[in-house]
Amino acid sequence: EEAFAERNRREFTANVSHELKTPLQSIMGGAELIENGLVKQEDMPRFVGHIRTEAARLVTLIEDIIRLSRLDEGVRGEVTPVDLTALIQHCVQKLTPAAQNAQVSISASGNDPVLISGDHALLEEMLTNLLENGIKYNHAGGYIRARAEMADGRAVVTVADNGVGIAPEDQQRVFERFYRVDKSRSKQTGGTGLGLSIVKHGAQVHHAQIAMQSALGEGTTITLTFPAQSSGKK
Ligand code: ADP
Repeated sequence: EEAFAERNRREFTANVSHELKTPLQSIMGGAELIENGLVKQEDMPRFVGHIRTEAARLVTLIEDIIRLSRLDEGVRGEVTPVDLTALIQHCVQKLTPAAQNAQVSISASGNDPVLISGDHALLEEMLTNLLENGIKYNHAGGYIRARAEMADGRAVVTVADNGVGIAPEDQQRVFERFYRVDKSRSKQTGGTGLGLSIVKHGAQVHHAQIAMQSALGEGTTITLTFPAQSSGKK
């Protein structure tokens, strides 16, 4: 088991190095062309824009890596009562511009509070990642629907989309670090390949179960089921 963990760490380090190198090389390439006067004045905004996009990608990637390594180290955030219905509404609002941009509809349903005790920042990150995936791996005219509800005394969060879907053989693997089904699509939409591994890790922290239902070309539904809260009412 120790050897397994060690191999995982080494693999992760190698992957991180590779993921950092690609955007950096692209930034250097662009800057060199400008430096050597090889970029026409009218092409300048495109080149500089590309450099900025790649730099922004690096920032997002590093933020995700820091988040995962904190989780790996067992650093725990503050645990407070969290209303998942309100949190979903907040995340949906936050992502509405991105959804509009991609021409997909995003909505939250349910008004009843669904309370758990948890790490608010981590839960927000998990929901954001799931909703963002619903936007990114979708088609114009598609939807993302999210809700929280109580079922058998447990809080259940559902994020459903009718986007591209995930083939059965990839459904487990997408939770691995840096695993992407369609690398070019993920890169194009600014994906780091770490979103679902943060969701998985966050679910473990909250002792929540993850279930995925997906079919290629039909869409994906991810469900998080939290344990019954001992202090809550039955
Ligand atoms: P990324 O940053 O690439 O989105 P994730 O860890 O969030 O990384 O997801 C891993 C891969 O799983 C994605 O690259 C994509 O291929 C696939 N995926 C994730 N969510 C969805 C979804 N809702 N619909 C279809 N494919 C998805």
